Amino acid sequence: MGLFKWAQTKSPWIIHFNTGGCNGCDIELVAALTPRFDLERFGILLEGSPRHADILVVTGPVTLQVKDRLVRVYEQMPEPKHVIAIGTCAISGAPFNECYNVHGGIDTVLPVDAYVPGCPPKPEAIIDGIVKLIQKTKESEGNGKGK
Ligand code: SF4
Repeated sequence: MGLFKWAQTKSPWIIHFNTGGCNGCDIELVAALTPRFDLERFGILLEGSPRHADILVVTGPVTLQVKDRLVRVYEQMPEPKHVIAIGTCAISGAPFNECYNVHGGIDTVLPVDAYVPGCPPKPEAIIDGIVKLIQKTKESEGNGKGK
């Protein structure tokens, strides 16, 4: 396994993007990053730049205002990259679906690798979703054996 692949599966860096949610999911994601829930124990680090991030964590429905920016952030991330949709708004648009200014869930714009349902999901569920995505990534790359 190459060094870069090893580092990405062992300690992926995430970038967070709120595409128009109510901030409920964001607060739970921030809680997951605090020492109480300690997402960093899995080697996961919150990163500010898409150019350094491996996983795009999206909360909220995709509004028309933010749609192009979301795609631009995704395109700036290096390969291999993954997307996780946090909360029912990110999954389907939820109550905001079919509003005049809402495009829909994240997968109407980007390929989504994992979904974490809830309104909002608890920090434990968010951590579980991210860890399962990492495990799925490892298995798909055939490097999960013997770990
Ligand atoms: S899923 Fe619920 S908590 Fe999360 S952004 Fe939508 S309305 Fe807010």
